Amino acid sequence: MKCEEIRNLMDAYLDGELDPVTSQKVEQHLRECGNCEQAFEVETAMAHAISQGAPYYKAPIELRERIQLSLREAIGAPTSRSAAGEDSLPVGRPKTARRGLFSEIRWDWLALAAAIALAAIIASSLLPRLSQPGAEQFLATQLIASHVRSLMADHLTDVASSDQHTVKPWLDAQLDFAAPVVDLSSDGFPLIGGRLDYLDNHSVAALVYQRRQHFINLFIWPTTPRDTKAQTFVAKEGYHLLHWFDGDFTYWAVSDVNSTDLQSFKQLFEGQVLHR
Ligand SMILES: [Zn+2]
Repeated sequence: MKCEEIRNLMDAYLDGELDPVTSQKVEQHLRECGNCEQAFEVETAMAHAISQGAPYYKAPIELRERIQLSLREAIGAPTSRSAAGEDSLPVGRPKTARRGLFSEIRWDWLALAAAIALAAIIASSLLPRLSQPGAEQFLATQLIASHVRSLMADHLTDVASSDQHTVKPWLDAQLDFAAPVVDLSSDGFPLIGGRLDYLDNHSVAALVYQRRQHFINLFIWPTTPRDTKAQTFVAKEGYHLLHWFDGDFTYWAVSDVNSTDLQSFKQLFEGQVLHR
């Protein structure tokens, strides 16, 4: 068997769809031909990676043909379907006559690149969208940056007031949601004011509270379906972040106060919101 035939049979061989005689011929060729063996290893690794990460769906014939066609176009292979059974991805060589070593190498690399791109497309469209820890880490970084910026740029508040009846209407007028604002002065967390901020691709309310010499930024925005964790505590870069949410809003408190203070701040805030 020629390499080209082997490459065309590789998918079927991998899926165990070949008759025993053909299967044996493929095996024999793979033992003797380094190039095909390498291509086979790539295909196996890809098939394995995809089956690990995603449930198996057989693509409709038309979709397979469209993808194969666009891959052939992308890598400059002949697009006509000349031979019967040419249904595998183009991890093979073009049907033109002899080519130099360079173009053969180039072909293999392009085929490999195309195969990897295809695997990425398949994986990204089939894998469930997870709320990744990476996304939360990114948000935590944004929250800390916003907290630090508010302290450094002397832009702690847009509306400086310890009166919740001043801060709340101001925020309500800036945002398309009405964030709860409570004063916790009697509990040692006086309200300093409010600020408009932009996080995670939307406008958010930032309430600023003081704890002795420290400040707490409390970021508030409407709860989204993504907010499924009951409570998260993050310690990062010398700051503490506490995340919780109720039926209406998602809260992130960011501060350099100790975690106990931040926990009691959260409990006091929640208690006041409940009893408004
Ligand atoms: Zn070969």
